[in-house]
Amino acid sequence: MTIFLGTGAMGAALTIAAVRDGGSAVVWNRSPQRAHALTRTPGVSAAEDPRDAVTAGDVIVTCLLDHASVHEVLDPLVADLAGRTVINMTTTTPNQSRELAAWAAAHDIAYLDGAIMAVPEMIGEPGSMIFYSGSPLVFGKHRKLLDRWGSSEFFGPDPGLAALSDMAMLTGMYAMIGGFLHGTAMVGAAGVPATAFARRQGPFLAAMAGQLAGYAATIDAADYTGAGQQSLRFTEAALSTLIESSADEGISTELIDPVRELVRRQIAAGFGDHGTARILEELRSSR
Ligand code: NAP
Repeated sequence: MTIFLGTGAMGAALTIAAVRDGGSAVVWNRSPQRAHALTRTPGVSAAEDPRDAVTAGDVIVTCLLDHASVHEVLDPLVADLAGRTVINMTTTTPNQSRELAAWAAAHDIAYLDGAIMAVPEMIGEPGSMIFYSGSPLVFGKHRKLLDRWGSSEFFGPDPGLAALSDMAMLTGMYAMIGGFLHGTAMVGAAGVPATAFARRQGPFLAAMAGQLAGYAATIDAADYTGAGQQSLRFTEAALSTLIESSADEGISTELIDPVRELVRRQIAAGFGDHGTARILEELRSSR
């Protein structure tokens, strides 16, 4: 029996995938109608009170809005949770995950932190990827449940590592979306529909993603002077051309200006002939 606290879009998807092959679940949600709707799924029953839910099983999956809502729901239940397991699928910062793990340890609660790299429709389907960190015992013991949601990857006992990788992955995603929107605005100035642009941009970005491994090898070797790297000076010229083009079309350059600024600072520091991956050193230097 698995207990689910929070049956929003993601909590509901996790619940349905957990009972798909004949499992059973008790669900609780702050707005009861969302929990009741899930009882149409065979194997799912609803609890009116979070304490009734928690005491019905040993494994409690939380999928709430944020770190604060996890504490809001779990803090009053701390005595009931002692000796049980919490698998927290709520998105949190790495330090919030570490705080929750420390809180759990102080109250004799086994804790595993999950970070979902999927949308609800993907849960239990190919392509769903979920990161975990925290208790290796919990990860090993409940692997069958976890694998029902997607491919499971364990990052180790530091409970913040799954969230850290989640945040890093999403940083790449949001920067890509921002770049796509900038490009859409540029061609839109000439009347090109966004859908037409997306048809070209998607395959191009997919092809460019093939270059990530090369950038990564350069960074891990900490050698920005190797052959085949696009120099910072070249990148500065390329960025200046596209920034000027954007301005000519009346498009704000505030998304891309900071990238050129990082490149320019590295050139000013004497690294103009080094590879463009050196931007990373500028980001690190602001720590
Ligand atoms: P959602 O549909 O908005 O559901 C949020 C859930 O949190 C609901 O069950 C809501 O209850 C509950 N909640 C919010 N504040 C609460 C509080 N103070 N006390 C008790 N319950 C509270 O969002 P979701 O898509 O399911 O997302 C849930 C988590 O999954 C988030 O951390 C999100 O970042 C993560 N996630 C989502 C996606 C996605 O694509 N949706 C992808 C990856 C990760 P009510 O129904 O009563 O409002």
